[in-house]
Amino acid sequence: MQTSFINIENIRNDFPILKRKVHKDKPLVYFDNAATTQKPIQVIESISNYYLNYNSNIHRAVHELAEEATLAYETTRDKIAKFINAKNREEIVFVRGTTEAINLVAYAWARQNINKDDIIVTTEYEHHSNIVPWQLVTKEKGAKLEYIGVDDNGELILDHLDKYLATGKVKLVTFSQMSNVLGTITNSEEIVKRCKKYGARVLIDGAQSVPHMKVDLQKLDCDFFAFSAHKMLGPTGVGVLWARKELLQEMVPFNGGGDMIREVHKYETTWNDLPYKFEAGTPNIADVIGFSAALDYLDKIGMDKVREHEIELTKYALDKLSQMKGIILYGPKDATKRGGVISFNLGDIHPHDLATIIDEDGIAIRSGHHCAQVLMERLDVSATSRASFYIYNTKEEVDVFIKSLNRAKELFKI
Ligand SMILES: *Cc1c(COP(=O)(O)O)cnc(C)c1O
Repeated sequence: MQTSFINIENIRNDFPILKRKVHKDKPLVYFDNAATTQKPIQVIESISNYYLNYNSNIHRAVHELAEEATLAYETTRDKIAKFINAKNREEIVFVRGTTEAINLVAYAWARQNINKDDIIVTTEYEHHSNIVPWQLVTKEKGAKLEYIGVDDNGELILDHLDKYLATGKVKLVTFSQMSNVLGTITNSEEIVKRCKKYGARVLIDGAQSVPHMKVDLQKLDCDFFAFSAHKMLGPTGVGVLWARKELLQEMVPFNGGGDMIREVHKYETTWNDLPYKFEAGTPNIADVIGFSAALDYLDKIGMDKVREHEIELTKYALDKLSQMKGIILYGPKDATKRGGVISFNLGDIHPHDLATIIDEDGIAIRSGHHCAQVLMERLDVSATSRASFYIYNTKEEVDVFIKSLNRAKELFKI
């Protein structure tokens, strides 16, 4: 059951859902981790423990329950700062997820700093949540949105970035550190370095990277960073925006309401300290606490081990898949240059049909445009199938997956 790096049997025992059967008697093979991961019992129990034993609102009351809840909530913030090596805990803002984090930057930073004819640069392999907010801002401001192209190996063409930077008009460059479709790991430090020379700010979408590899924000040296808890064993409805303190201080609030204020008078309000200025209203306390347990879980395994396990599994799967007649694989061929995400098309079987057929064998994969229609256009397809792995997936499951794909091939006579 093992890859060389982690004890998968022990890990699988922590995930109750992996014991269930689908379609009556088929063991579940969950390969849709790029959409959301499963949750270990430790995360589930930490959420119910909060509701069972110390449910309370945070920050305001002085009673014991409120103190316990506040401590648990704020401890998560410390753990996150350590997990991504952020310099200050005040730079960690809790939001609903990556999407909200990016929209926060678009609203509270870009709307104040982007002017007519300025340029925002994104890439052709972005998730819709890192494209649409920038379309909204650039349209509103009469600014321009430009794209770094993707080459045939699934990597960014950095010459495009240089060309835009040379205009001197680029105010923001934004990209995902790992593509959710191609698995490509972006050469992030190099991009940041080039942007710095021209004074362009950099936002990194870490929705796929933080769950699967060690991320060091001080080394990355970007300006904004976003990710979601639910793609790294945590609950839905919690995510993080990290931003440089100086920027958060300058930025206008995103939402107005309780907790984000210092003093409210009839016509004037002063803002609370960072990060509370950006956390209006009662936050998602239970799920922030659940996120804490997810961070502990990943810490215990070690992110280097997580990454090595995925490289081994991805290499194994890529080897088998590439031998299959009629398959088109997207993204880098080298497993060390990509995460555990494999997008493909098999003959002329529509991805939705393929996903439906292999679902009958208990295998959950994703089919469609993966919230990346700009990339689909670039690849000249309407959809792909996508298998994506995590710490509890095994080589045996990859074998079941390959066998099921062969069954689909026979059905479609490929
Ligand atoms: C999932 C994903 C998002 C959106 O995350 P939400 O949790 O849905 O807000 C953004 N970018 C990438 C690369 C993703 O994989």
